[in-house]
Amino acid sequence: MMKRFIPVALAVLTLSLGYVAAQQLPPGQIRPRPAEGRDPEFPPPNIREYKPRSTLVVPQHPVPRAKFPVIDFHGHPPRLTGPDQVNIVGDSMSPLNLQVMVNANSTPSNRLQEEYAAINASKYKGRMVEFVGLDLRNVGPGSGQKIAAQLEADVKAGAMGIGEIMKSFGLYQRKADGTRLKLDDPELDAVWEKAADLKIPVFIHVADPSEFFQPIDYHNERWLELALYADRRYQDRSRFPSFEDLMGERDRLFARHPRTIWVLAHFGWHANDLARLGKMFDQMPNLHSELGAVLYDIGRQPRTAHDFFVKYQDRILFGKDSYQPDEYPYYWRVFETNDEYFDYYRDYHAFWKLYGIGLPDDVLKKVYYKNALRLVPGIARGAFPN
Ligand SMILES: [Zn+2]
Repeated sequence: MMKRFIPVALAVLTLSLGYVAAQQLPPGQIRPRPAEGRDPEFPPPNIREYKPRSTLVVPQHPVPRAKFPVIDFHGHPPRLTGPDQVNIVGDSMSPLNLQVMVNANSTPSNRLQEEYAAINASKYKGRMVEFVGLDLRNVGPGSGQKIAAQLEADVKAGAMGIGEIMKSFGLYQRKADGTRLKLDDPELDAVWEKAADLKIPVFIHVADPSEFFQPIDYHNERWLELALYADRRYQDRSRFPSFEDLMGERDRLFARHPRTIWVLAHFGWHANDLARLGKMFDQMPNLHSELGAVLYDIGRQPRTAHDFFVKYQDRILFGKDSYQPDEYPYYWRVFETNDEYFDYYRDYHAFWKLYGIGLPDDVLKKVYYKNALRLVPGIARGAFPN
């Protein structure tokens, strides 16, 4: 009995020690390598210096111009003070096949007229439309009714939606009594119901990538970005709610206003967990999402992303966020090709390459313009194919 028991016990012990050792190895390594403990013979580069040239040879299909005309639902042009500003942006839109830009700069009510006058006096009349901002400063009793009344006037003055509601709502905005203005504060119910009555989309950016709320250590995917930008660090729980606190407030807000047309910016920061966003789409028929600034997540999971876009083709809108014309072709290439392992444009977002998700034409058309035309009927349809 004993003789047989001891070798088995030893084997189990050895296996579990091996398991413990494997647990302590860095990701990408399953056992100590022969050179373990050896130092590189040259000073190792830091993460900003190491930019290896890929030796992979595969077909390349850059896409400088989108296959179909596009509506950018998440535009941040410079302030449109006159026709010249509109013309500068418009001139750079045309070669990209960017047909219409939604100005999502949260334009204050009192600047709507000035901006529409600039657009109408430019070469690009009808190719930029205005969303309006909400004044969420010092919310207190009665604010909801006041903001709702202003919204009604703004829509009469030409605003075609609300937005973008910036991430400051939830992260920074304080109420008149000094407490943080929660996303689901009942005082604002009147505003979201008014938006539903007016049938205008509410374009809302909530929180930031979840890694911005996590410890800034060498396991954080956004270490470099966090090291570069102090204003993206939300680790301090005495100053900021957690990522999941904000998601909870957001989901309760959406659930309480099922008639309101919600458009969640940046895939709700769930582009790294598309099943989670899919579940939200399943539960909330009036929820849509825009994909600005999360291309690095879409392009690193081409098969999952392709299937997600096909399944939720009526709920996804193209948007770019920051207006840099030379970055749009990266989006076209991810959506329209099956290219493999190509560069992204911003190293601090992603330490990896992108892959095309090869969307079929009927899905591309919905993401590029059909869904936006449905949500914003004020956009002229003439330039868009069926
Ligand atoms: Zn934005």
